[in-house]
Parts: sequence; C-alpha cells; structure tokens
Amino acid sequence: MKEELAKEARFERLRLERTPTGDIVMPLKDEHITSDEPAHVICPVCKEDKRVSVMTEDEYWYRCPSCKYLAGKKKRPPSSRRGPMVV
Ligand SMILES: [Zn+2]
Repeated sequence: MKEELAKEARFERLRLERTPTGDIVMPLKDEHITSDEPAHVICPVCKEDKRVSVMTEDEYWYRCPSCKYLAGKKKRPPSSRRGPMVV
C-alpha cells in the first residue's frame, strides 16, 4: 500500500510529451531534475501497468527495455545510402 502511494507520487512528477515523430513518452518534469535525479524518460506503456520503466535513448529513439516500446525521438534525416547526392 505504501509502495503504491510512492509510485503514484513518482508518476505525478512526469509529464506527457509528444515527440516530433508523434510518439508519446513521459519525461521527468524540468523542476524535478536535480544532480541526484538526472533527466530521464519513463515508458508510457509500462506506466499503464503501474510499472516504472526508464527508457534508454540514443540519437533517434527511446526504447523500453521492459516491454520493447519504441518511440521516435526526432525525425530521421534523409538517407544518404541511395546515391552520391549529399544534402
Ligand atoms: Zn515499457
């Protein structure tokens, strides 16, 4: 019971954010980012199951290691593999 409340409190510190690719992620609110708690993103799918799962991120993707939810972080640049044309 106490644990449930702690989890609810943790979710209240998150905000919903739509990424440029139209996917949903739940980053920590700016005012809660400290040196002890760096910015991170929580999986919105796991959140529905009341699980706190921190997503890993690289340049273009957020990935949930728990449920494999994948959210685009930003639009990919045009592929340069098609030919010699350089943008
Ligand atoms: Zn997940």
